[in-house]
Amino acid sequence: MPPERVAIQAAAGRVLAEAVLSGVTLPPADCSAMDGYAVRAADLEGASAQSPRELEVRFEVAAGAAPAGAIGPGEAARIFTGAPLPPGADAVVRQEETSREGARVRVRVATAAGEDVRPAGEDIRAGDCVFAAGTRVGAAQIGVLASLGRSQVAVHQRPRVAILSGGDELVEIDGDRAGGRIVSSNSYSLAAQCREVGAEPVYLGIARDTPEELEAVLRRGLRCDVLLSSAGVSVGDRDYVRPVLEKLGCTLEFWGVEIRPGHPLVFGRFGETGPLVFGLPGNPVSAMVTFEQFVRPVLLRQLGSTRLFRPTLEVRLAAPLRKKAGRMHFERVVLERRDGAVLARSTGTQSSGALRSMTLAQGLLIFPAEATELRAGDTATVQVIDESFLASGEPGY
Ligand code: AMP
Ligand code: MG
Repeated sequence: MPPERVAIQAAAGRVLAEAVLSGVTLPPADCSAMDGYAVRAADLEGASAQSPRELEVRFEVAAGAAPAGAIGPGEAARIFTGAPLPPGADAVVRQEETSREGARVRVRVATAAGEDVRPAGEDIRAGDCVFAAGTRVGAAQIGVLASLGRSQVAVHQRPRVAILSGGDELVEIDGDRAGGRIVSSNSYSLAAQCREVGAEPVYLGIARDTPEELEAVLRRGLRCDVLLSSAGVSVGDRDYVRPVLEKLGCTLEFWGVEIRPGHPLVFGRFGETGPLVFGLPGNPVSAMVTFEQFVRPVLLRQLGSTRLFRPTLEVRLAAPLRKKAGRMHFERVVLERRDGAVLARSTGTQSSGALRSMTLAQGLLIFPAEATELRAGDTATVQVIDESFLASGEPGY
């Protein structure tokens, strides 16, 4: 996606479309890391509680103020955290190691040059490339941008994702369900999946099962960056998505993937510049799982990210799993950490209509295409789709 300039507060979760160079040095000058006295380390050689040294306090330096002068041998300056070190001083002794008597301070410790001083530029130097293009912006990056004085930054635009549902059985959320009609839940789950990665869903509504209506609704999505339809891509008599897409000028790149759930997935594109098109299967689990595998990485790429894929884990099976050979399965599983390993257990029915299973699933276990059986205790790879699985109710330290 092309760049856009946004206020840094709005850049969280986005990816930089420009490198950020620093125009400033931070800290701007050598400054104190403590409340205490700026001193010359040489004056305190051999100082201790038994043998304190007395220095003359010449002036005070507050944070945000310029020092009133320099200090010479036998002299000190009262100084506060973040205040610039006066010329002549090379160290700070903390207040707790001193006693003040009028214009003199007694110091009970020796120190070394640089002690409790934050040198100019210890964090950032003018001219540093602080962030490369492609950096993901989080709270720390926003803080650094602010400290550089950058109120705006260029990030990749959010892709706009047109979402349409198709089917005579579907109604909107408050629609009449008489005759066994069902709510178009895909409209909601897919929009939420888009938002979760930072894309912007644009809901087109429900198209009835006629080629004319499907065409009319699909046309409204052509100005978006991605077109996401669900249902109507199987081999049913009323599965019009593919022919209508072709009629509109879409080049179908593939149809059908040897996976379950999600076999009927269609992918196409409208030339070099038009939207990418995903015809997702209608079954609610299939739609979500194919979004995870095919759409999410594309949206992340459009957003400028290079980390396109969910983390995976090696797990042990808590109970055996069986299937026919031929298609790779994504088994919905619950994960549990036990004795340094992660145990995976099926969420139960793997029907692609059972959407509640997706609310339980913390991972999708890869059951390879040709395998027919995984035994209890076998290892397998799980794609972690609920990363909060790693979070804990305990601090862990
Ligand atoms: P289809 O691909 O049209 O054969 O649909 C497959 C299954 O998914 C059917 O049971 C549909 O009722 C269901 N389905 C299709 N679209 C949606 C949707 N937007 N929300 C929920 N279920 C849907
Ligand atoms: Mg249908």
